[in-house]
Amino acid sequence: MNNIKDLDKKYVLPTYARADVEFVSGNNAIVVDANGKKYIDFASGIAVCSVGHANKRVNDAICKQLSNITHTSNLYYIAPQAKAAQKIVEASGYDMKCFFGNSGAEANEGAIKIARKFGEKDGELKRYKVITLQHSFHGRTITTVKATGQEKMHNYFGPYPDGFVYADNIDHVASLVDDHTCAVMIELVQGEGGVQPLDRDSVQKLAKFLKEKNVLLIIDEVQTGIYRTGKFLASNYYDIKPDVVTLAKGLGGGVPIGVVMTTLKDVFGAGDHGSTFGGNFLSTTAACEVVDILNEMNESGELQKGIDYFDSELEKFYNAHRDIFTSKVGIGMMCGLRVKDGDTLTKIISNAREEGVIVLKAGRDTLRLLPALTITKEEIDEGFTSLNRTISSL
Ligand SMILES: *Cc1c(COP(=O)(O)O)cnc(C)c1O
Repeated sequence: MNNIKDLDKKYVLPTYARADVEFVSGNNAIVVDANGKKYIDFASGIAVCSVGHANKRVNDAICKQLSNITHTSNLYYIAPQAKAAQKIVEASGYDMKCFFGNSGAEANEGAIKIARKFGEKDGELKRYKVITLQHSFHGRTITTVKATGQEKMHNYFGPYPDGFVYADNIDHVASLVDDHTCAVMIELVQGEGGVQPLDRDSVQKLAKFLKEKNVLLIIDEVQTGIYRTGKFLASNYYDIKPDVVTLAKGLGGGVPIGVVMTTLKDVFGAGDHGSTFGGNFLSTTAACEVVDILNEMNESGELQKGIDYFDSELEKFYNAHRDIFTSKVGIGMMCGLRVKDGDTLTKIISNAREEGVIVLKAGRDTLRLLPALTITKEEIDEGFTSLNRTISSL
């Protein structure tokens, strides 16, 4: 451990405030550190390990694929990419086509390019403005950082691409739409912003308004997608028909992948967009297996059962500690508790690790829980037992 810590400090750029722990293995919702200590993982690598750590089905599928071929290029047909696209589109219930990249930011870059090309081609006036929300998070590239509605993230890196406009909240979006607006991009449950679900009626009203105005609705489902809310997409949960959807985190079960999917099937022609690694045999084989596993769990009712059990245990935990938590937020397995102040939250997160459970922070004051969708009843029980010890130790 010390050696790894030294290497990291010497050779890795310090962009992360790392916690003092090194995980070396895992199994479903359990992770083990270099000292052999076991933890219940209520974070799943920030909603990435959707089917748990060391998932045998995903690993077997990957190993089998890699023993044949890992990468060719998008110059040629890639069987698991075509199959993954079919699975994703069918599970979404939308009439869309996919483009594969490697991350959430890259998926959102693709979405913004789609919106800009749509805005260039459609109508006489060039439309280029993209409206996003305050407290949103859309990624770390120059463009997606500018799309992110958090002033503190706009230091140092300018000049930025023009055309991003921030709405204070969902009900203010419509008033910002003008002749130059090509798209609105939102998360239905803001993740990094503090596990903040948008109001369903407001979202549906906005979706209808944008259709009338011929302005695209882009839903950033990088965190909410792949059954995180209990439905394949949060867009399904909100019962809307977006023009563009982006996916990433939970889709590859830990293998880097990003997708932008759209109803605008002809918006891009050959040469308009691309990615060397995007959609290769490794990532799309993983995605196929992850989607299969979660589709099966959804159909059997097992997924909803797990969500309901987690929610009932979270409710109990919340009610037992109302002196510390001010509200319970979220949808499905994307949930959180607002903490009375930020210092207490910081302490909870580090004490929780001591007590053997991994939890996350979101926004200023939200304790965020994003367990694997495959988490077992026993793992949930053990996690909340540790969390109760954590609160006693404060
Ligand atoms: C994590 C996240 C991103 C960025 O994804 P990366 O894979 O880190 O580029 C974008 N949007 C949302 C909503 C996210 O939660």
